[in-house]
Amino acid sequence: MVDDATPAPIELRAVRKRYGRLVAVDGVDLTVEPGTFHCLVGPNGSGKTTLLRMLLGLTEPSAGEVSVPDVSLGTAFQRPSHYEDLTVAENLEVFGALSGADPDWSDAVLERLGLDVVSGRIAGDLSGGYSRKLDLALALCKEPAYLLLDEPLGDLDDVTKRRLVEFLGEYRDAGHGVVVSTHNLEQFADHVDRLTLVHEGRVLYDEPRESFPARDLQTFYVERVLSAVESE
Ligand code: ADP
Repeated sequence: MVDDATPAPIELRAVRKRYGRLVAVDGVDLTVEPGTFHCLVGPNGSGKTTLLRMLLGLTEPSAGEVSVPDVSLGTAFQRPSHYEDLTVAENLEVFGALSGADPDWSDAVLERLGLDVVSGRIAGDLSGGYSRKLDLALALCKEPAYLLLDEPLGDLDDVTKRRLVEFLGEYRDAGHGVVVSTHNLEQFADHVDRLTLVHEGRVLYDEPRESFPARDLQTFYVERVLSAVESE
């Protein structure tokens, strides 16, 4: 269940991030609200992961302000974050104990993600799809107020993708904030509430659901990026 009090939004104000001479994020304002499915979309290298890390308070901006409310945040990046030599169940136990998770909720997450059938397997032996789902389960076991995921669908098969997206939609429906970074927006089209399009470290477009076309979001996104490239 969500805390009784609705959490404050996560906010980035005029943030900039330099890595040496490279400007990865250049003057971005971004607000992530609770109860919202927020997609950060952009080509490779556009700054999505850097923005996600700033929203999590993991990366300090070179300039600008980050406001992260004092609530639990869950995340899963593209690299595995579990213990490879422990079983699935042991991973859940360790992460659950560290975050004070409710064991009933952890069990429900395991089952809902279809991980209960591999709970006794060593995590390092799991297929790519199960490995990603385990990371998601570990992020979810403390029932975070905000769940922020970097390219969560990766190379999963289409059935698993669909199930995960449905699950994320339900997580949002329960009042949590969900943020995903992706370069394949179409997969989230049925659920997305807010769309932020980034290109070369800047926001090209940041609008709620009512403002963007209901269908063929991927074409919409690609055309926006191409027209930005042409006007450079
Ligand atoms: P995306 O997630 O959209 O692919 P990133 O935020 O990962 O974009 O990267 C934005 C830019 O910043 C890229 O040019 C990338 O090479 C660079 N970058 C990201 N992280 C680092 C880092 N730790 N050190 C140096 N450059 C980085």
